[in-house]
Amino acid sequence: MTVILRKVTKTPLDFDIKSNEITFKGYLEYHAGKLILLKADLRGLVDTECSTCGDEFKLKVDEKVEFFISDGLYDGDNIDIDVVESFNSSADLDELLLSEVELLKSDYHSCNSCEKN
Ligand SMILES: [Zn+2]
Repeated sequence: MTVILRKVTKTPLDFDIKSNEITFKGYLEYHAGKLILLKADLRGLVDTECSTCGDEFKLKVDEKVEFFISDGLYDGDNIDIDVVESFNSSADLDELLLSEVELLKSDYHSCNSCEKN
């Protein structure tokens, strides 16, 4: 699902997308200047590797995701929330979901049996 950034207004634009066993459900809302707020829940299961034993396992995910999408280069003040810059005036939500999943995978995770030990 691709969203044209300049079409996002103060009225939240809902989205609900799915990739494998993960759902990414939330909304986009115009904030100010070039910034569009994305707020969503990331829920489901992600295939990942245990950082301890290397076995593949399914990681249960239930996270809140919140960041700004900037329509072009962001040159404003530092803000508390991450800013993702878009240089094609649009946001590809499937791609954003994939990068969130990759980010989760890069964290340290232990499978159930390693966690018990
Ligand atoms: Zn393990």
